[in-house]
Amino acid sequence: MIKPLKTPMPVADAEERNTNFYEVALGYSHQDALDEASRCLQCLHKPCVASCPVNVDIPSFIRAVKEERLDDALSIIHQTNCFPSICGRVCPQEVQCESTCVMTKRYQSVAIGRLERYVGDHANVRVDVKPLNHARKVAVVGSGPSGLACAYDCAKAGYAVTVFEAWHDIGGVLRYGIPEFRLPKATVDKEIDLLRTLGVEFECNVVIGKTIECHELFDMGYKAVFLGTGAGLPTFMNIEGEGSIGVFSANEFLTRVNFMKAGQPTYDTPLLAGKKVVVIGGGNVAMDAARCAKRLGYDTTIVYRRSLNELPARQEEVEHAMEEQIHFELLSAPVKISADQQGRVRSILCQRMQLTEPGPDGRCKVVATDDEPFEIETDTVIVAIGTSPNPILIRSTKELKTGKWGTILVDHNQQTSIRHVYAGGDAVTGAATVIEALGAGKKAAASIIAYFSENPAG
Ligand code: FAD
Ligand code: SF4
Ligand code: SF4
Repeated sequence: MIKPLKTPMPVADAEERNTNFYEVALGYSHQDALDEASRCLQCLHKPCVASCPVNVDIPSFIRAVKEERLDDALSIIHQTNCFPSICGRVCPQEVQCESTCVMTKRYQSVAIGRLERYVGDHANVRVDVKPLNHARKVAVVGSGPSGLACAYDCAKAGYAVTVFEAWHDIGGVLRYGIPEFRLPKATVDKEIDLLRTLGVEFECNVVIGKTIECHELFDMGYKAVFLGTGAGLPTFMNIEGEGSIGVFSANEFLTRVNFMKAGQPTYDTPLLAGKKVVVIGGGNVAMDAARCAKRLGYDTTIVYRRSLNELPARQEEVEHAMEEQIHFELLSAPVKISADQQGRVRSILCQRMQLTEPGPDGRCKVVATDDEPFEIETDTVIVAIGTSPNPILIRSTKELKTGKWGTILVDHNQQTSIRHVYAGGDAVTGAATVIEALGAGKKAAASIIAYFSENPAG
């Protein structure tokens, strides 16, 4: 008899966890993993595999879990995904692999992400370390998931790789954006160590486009370059009062808290001085900013212009935010920020919104109601309404063709307008997901490897 519901994920108590940064989802026990693995029907046509952006062989790794061959399960996942502990924690599985699981026809899907996390956390890694070919060096710009995945596949194929990172530590958004309570940095370190084992080298505090120009990488002996520079440039609302003291972009706020350890007694990084925080937006970034603010002791409200059904954040994160006593002002849009005489935020004025009937494309528009705007008193506003590609490298590399929103243009092989320069991840798509960035990095690596194999002397 198949169990209809997913094996529940043990979680930390909501009242306790909203005062600390320890991980919220605690991970499956051995028995939980066996129970959940036994729910998989081992479908021959594998619909779940097709809806994973990197096509993890889901039934095969789940079968290995069920048969208690955990190290085999990890080797199966590693064939296409170098970061199972990370992806098992942060992938929006409900719209990816789990969305097409045949179990959803009658019951809940198999908890593929939770099982993948279990394998990544508990299995022993088997690596086949090849001697590296230093005549075919690859430069990777940016150490987010796209850059790391490209570096991993190139090193696995035996090519020497150097990853250049602007910050003083590696991981991109995995390090400075996604908070510890969702993605512990020890987990990020553990999975990145696999790249070090393969011989990948990291050069931090190097801004390509400033410290070194993109074309100079070729003068330094690199034969191919991958650009995985992400989309870290915040978008603002352009409303009155947005320049007031106490208005932050979510990027700045999260970087201060996660990366520069603001709020920890032994660090000097300054933090917000107030007691109340309003976060604008409904994506993962907004949830993360709100949940960080709550943990730092702020009374926290999320303002989002659409309704609960349209919140783009992962379902689990929304549920966790609600359990943690974060208030939601849905169908509300900010129109003005008011400040006191010193220019510090005092309140935010919002307009009630409503959804229209769905149009021909099936989407509802959101329009203002006739209601009077309402005011929320607050001393801090965090804007989390989106980001666009990091511009430094793009501006300094004139031959690099970009699209309307500053995204780097690539062909179907991730090749940019410059020969032997490839790109992928958020820098190409705009803000997306970890696994899509990872998939793009892999695709670029495949193109680089093909170029090297087709030109053995080049
Ligand atoms: P990034 O991760 O942005 O990495 C780019 C790196 O390049 C950075 O380290 C940057 O410093 C470096 N860089 C930039 N310019 C230069 C330069 N000129 N020289 C050298 N280095 C440079 N996705 C999910 O799937 N699930 C989630 O739960 C989720 N939550 C998120 C929460 C937050 C707060 C944020 C901000 C994003 C979240 N995302 C989530 C999205 C996901 O993290 C990104 O889609 C993903 O990290 C993109 O990877 P990337 O490699 O393209 O870029
Ligand atoms: Fe699902 Fe992400 Fe794992 Fe793919 S990588 S199987 S989408 S959890
Ligand atoms: Fe297992 Fe669901 Fe994939 Fe079928 S669709 S193999 S039940 S995870």
